[in-house]
Amino acid sequence: NVLANQIAAGEVIERPASIVKELVENSLDAHSRRIDVLVTNSGLGSIRVIDDGDGIAADDLQLAFKRHATSKISSRKDLFRVQTMGFRGEALPSIASVADVKMTTATADSDGHSIHLHGGKVVSEKPALSRPGTDVTVTELFFNTPARLKYLKSPQTELSHLTDIVNRLALANPEVAISLTSDGHELFRSAGNGNLAQVVAAIYGIQVGRKMIKISGADNDFKVTGLVSLPELTRASRQYITLTINHRYVRNFQLTKAIIQGYGSKLMVGRYPVAVVNIDLDPFLVDVNVHPAKREVRLSKEPQLVNLIANAIAQAIGQRNL
Ligand code: ADP
Ligand code: MG
Repeated sequence: NVLANQIAAGEVIERPASIVKELVENSLDAHSRRIDVLVTNSGLGSIRVIDDGDGIAADDLQLAFKRHATSKISSRKDLFRVQTMGFRGEALPSIASVADVKMTTATADSDGHSIHLHGGKVVSEKPALSRPGTDVTVTELFFNTPARLKYLKSPQTELSHLTDIVNRLALANPEVAISLTSDGHELFRSAGNGNLAQVVAAIYGIQVGRKMIKISGADNDFKVTGLVSLPELTRASRQYITLTINHRYVRNFQLTKAIIQGYGSKLMVGRYPVAVVNIDLDPFLVDVNVHPAKREVRLSKEPQLVNLIANAIAQAIGQRNL
């Protein structure tokens, strides 16, 4: 149902960066160790995501582009995924309904297969040579929804949204090697060796240890870890604060405020730290019924977590100043 998919796309696929987010998250879900993102013309020309993950079996390939065909809801853990991933079983059909999509994919124990869809309709499907993993290319974004096309911003703005999301996903997943190449120029590459400090250095050019320090804190429900800048290293926007829950990039206003609170009076007004903070928790503590298109999550026991985060930061900074 192409129309329903276009409507769903309207909610979630706003711009090239949204497509990159959905595709890379799919690659992460598929246990990829390496994910390469290649775009041309800020993603308005083409978006290609290559991963070395589980791949999709030939029999499931058409199904993956059908609405609500997700292979991912089976456990309690997935309840959380439903929250943070935004929506379930809608990304591929939504993207395909407003663009041209070519995917080649193979699993470890089956031959490769490729599929081509245009405006949500299957144009062709055939066996293809491929190593395990998935290679997907999206072109002609919004070719059939001119109103959406009109709302896109300048190529520079679209590229900065796209870069931002790839950076955040890399910060959230230091154990996966992620790269971003734009018009043949490599903008970013993480090593995938699990070293968050190296990812921070690659993205922000900040040397951890000197200007950024480790934080940690835990109670019965939460475990907080991460890297935060010292009060003398700040930025003029909150954009340099990355919050992850169980290594999923999320947004939460209260928790972002908790990070700022941790600095007490040491931050100047209008200045914000650079921070990457991960919270490990039982997925049961993530509330359901949050708007799917946003990555805003709500948590039970939020005030308790706010204290834990603020204290972890205050403590790390206090020790530093001794
Ligand atoms: P969701 O991620 O919510 O399940 P999607 O529409 O994003 O829905 O993807 C549909 C299905 O296609 C997924 O459940 C997964 O089984 C499969 N899939 C998509 N991308 C990949 C990928 N890169 N590697 C392996 N499987 C994938
Ligand atoms: Mg998905």
